[in-house]
Amino acid sequence: MSWKDIPKVELHLHHEGAAPPAFIRGLAQERDVNLTGVFDDNGNYLFGDFAQFLRVYEAATAVLKSPDDYRRLTLAVLEESAKHGVVYTESFISPDFCGGGDLGAWREYLHAIREAADEAERTMGITLRGIVTCIRHFGPDRAKPIALCAAETAGDWIVGFGMGGDETMGAQGDFAYSFDLAREAGLRLTTHAGEWGGAKSIWQAVRDLKVERVGHGIQAIDDLALVDYLAEHEIVLEVCPGSNVALGAVPSFKAHPIAKLRERGVRVTVSTDDPPFFRTTMTREFDELERTFGWGEAEFRELAQTSLDAAFCDADTRDRIAKQLEQT
Ligand SMILES: [Zn+2]
Repeated sequence: MSWKDIPKVELHLHHEGAAPPAFIRGLAQERDVNLTGVFDDNGNYLFGDFAQFLRVYEAATAVLKSPDDYRRLTLAVLEESAKHGVVYTESFISPDFCGGGDLGAWREYLHAIREAADEAERTMGITLRGIVTCIRHFGPDRAKPIALCAAETAGDWIVGFGMGGDETMGAQGDFAYSFDLAREAGLRLTTHAGEWGGAKSIWQAVRDLKVERVGHGIQAIDDLALVDYLAEHEIVLEVCPGSNVALGAVPSFKAHPIAKLRERGVRVTVSTDDPPFFRTTMTREFDELERTFGWGEAEFRELAQTSLDAAFCDADTRDRIAKQLEQT
């Protein structure tokens, strides 16, 4: 049995990291860009260890250069998600990669992405909303113009602000200025923490940046006081089990703390992070969760509801998606 068709809500997806390999290969061929060392014999992204992931990711995503590339990327990504039953998704989009942090250029990229999202909503029944993301290892000063891009385009489509990148660089609190700016513009907040940076990085995220969702957050399991805090304050974890196993953050699905966190009352959700790079899909995540923890339809329906409750979209959109979840 496969969980391909059960309706799903995904909250943690990197826009470029979701690029189907065939799409990137096609774009590279059009531009005559040499991508030797990026794909294996079956046309998948090469994947060995973390260092290779970073190298392949960088080479593959460097092919994306214009707003129209992002329009096409968005369609390709949403087509793939829709195939796996995803009806609502939020993706991390960075003005760093879309116009180099320039507000005018960012608006052009955003326009192109939204055009594709509208088309996908009409033709594939999948809804996308954007979370503007700053890159931690570019440093706090670089995050400020990114937060400004987020604030200037905040609304019914750009609904959140977040941070990705190398979690071992600096502290969450170094970025408080940018997160405050985004919050004041009405954006909802999330940040990557507790994938590599330990439970303390999750404490920093909730205390210093006051985020309501945490990307990954799985290392909370090492600090039960933190687990209880997350449960009590209804802070939602965007858990990406397949990504964690692929990158070695946890050794196996069996060793993954998602079930323990859930049993202790933490609101956990499930996402794919950079799916084709980690050879995963939402269907595969669900299938593995069934195989490992015995989760079934009741758990997956609850998961979709928890995810929708934690989505950053407005109430009208949430109501519309809720109906979609009920109907299928
Ligand atoms: Zn991520």
